[in-house]
Amino acid sequence: MTARLIDGKAAAASLRATVAAEVAKFRSATGRSPGLAVVLVGEDPASAVYVRSKGKATVEAGMQSIEHKLPADTSEAELLALVDQLNSDPAVDGILVQLPLPPQIDANKVITRIDPDKDVDGFNPVNAGRLAIGLPGFVPCTPLGCLKLLRAELGDLAGKHAVVIGRSNIVGKPVAMLLLAEHCTVTIAHSRTRNLPAVVRQADIVVAAVGRPNMVKGDWLKLHATVIDVGINRVEGDDGKSRLVGDVDFASAREIAGAITPVPGGVGPMTIACLIRNTLVSAARRDGYQLPE
Ligand code: NDP
Repeated sequence: MTARLIDGKAAAASLRATVAAEVAKFRSATGRSPGLAVVLVGEDPASAVYVRSKGKATVEAGMQSIEHKLPADTSEAELLALVDQLNSDPAVDGILVQLPLPPQIDANKVITRIDPDKDVDGFNPVNAGRLAIGLPGFVPCTPLGCLKLLRAELGDLAGKHAVVIGRSNIVGKPVAMLLLAEHCTVTIAHSRTRNLPAVVRQADIVVAAVGRPNMVKGDWLKLHATVIDVGINRVEGDDGKSRLVGDVDFASAREIAGAITPVPGGVGPMTIACLIRNTLVSAARRDGYQLPE
């Protein structure tokens, strides 16, 4: 039996529709639209695509998209001044500075400068700390998307053994923190982990966030494990055309797993849906407006 496909596209469309319905209610209750400011520095083509998609999703949800496009030679001081201005602008509920930033700008400094209560990307150290100790804050969007897919697939996650492969601040660590908060037993694996296949074989839940095409093989998995593949890797196929693959070898993994996210169409679409959800949550908190759970 092959694994069930976890349809991230459908889950994201449903979340976006729920957010849009809530935004409509928020607007009639408060007389204003939640606003998301997205800052793009330079002309990295992938970043430009992400920023366009984020703006489109924001507007489709009935929210205001405020885009700032700055030249590649923008100084750190200029970017920090813009962040300060957005921090104090009452129409701005969420601030997102698209990464990567050009080399003259220290990304950590910029992320730390964003008001933690408008940090809808959840990368500010204050929000990382809140997540670690269980305080309300903002959770990074891709990890939040992984959690929503897992909850929808498995329901209660308590007691499950989750192996997270990858320990980056933007994916691996926050995913691990979220799963710990769900009462999973969490193992975090990384490039120095010994005998990774044996570690992965213990997992009821595998989250792969590595950035290595097709690394996790089917025979690394416990029978019927749930597999969340965060990886997005562009590779050249036999036909010479480039295509996207995950960190999990989909063909072999789907023979063993119980359920698995495809790439594309798995975790990817959830990221933007969670971003607009976080923006609505921010607007609601700032206005003392009660959102349903
Ligand atoms: P990073 O490069 O920041 O982190 C990769 C992690 O994988 C590191 O912790 C590294 O370990 C670990 N790693 C590398 N090689 C191995 C190995 N051979 N065995 C075990 N662990 C290894 O990547 P990100 O976390 O930013 O992204 C991971 C993937 O997720 C990428 O493919 C990226 O494109 C994708 N992604 C997708 C998103 C989406 O769906 N919207 C959003 C963000 C990322 P160590 O710490 O020891 O170096």
